[in-house]
Amino acid sequence: MREEIAIDCPECGFAVSEVLDRQANIGRYPKTGRTVRVTITRARCGFCGHEWTDRDVEPLEDHAVLYRPSVRCPGCNGTRCPVTKTKGATRYHKCRDCSRRFKSIEPGDS
Ligand SMILES: [Zn+2]
Ligand SMILES: [Zn+2]
Repeated sequence: MREEIAIDCPECGFAVSEVLDRQANIGRYPKTGRTVRVTITRARCGFCGHEWTDRDVEPLEDHAVLYRPSVRCPGCNGTRCPVTKTKGATRYHKCRDCSRRFKSIEPGDS
């Protein structure tokens, strides 16, 4: 069974290509920490036969809910403490109200 997709050929611009291989991986985008699905499609042009790899990154916010612990600032007890950095199970926060920086640790899932 051949699957045809509409990706313009980078060589000749022909719009109908054949899928040779497709892999979808769920991962985290390193820069933003957002969950994304990366679809890597190996395609061959139906016109000139050129083969290339198409990489599609799709955010998954609509499908997957990120776990957000309700953290309170130890300084002012405020709840507006966005995560500024994540390092393993440790999250670094900065309070929007009093600008205090602190960290929180996610309980292990063992
Ligand atoms: Zn082509
Ligand atoms: Zn605070």
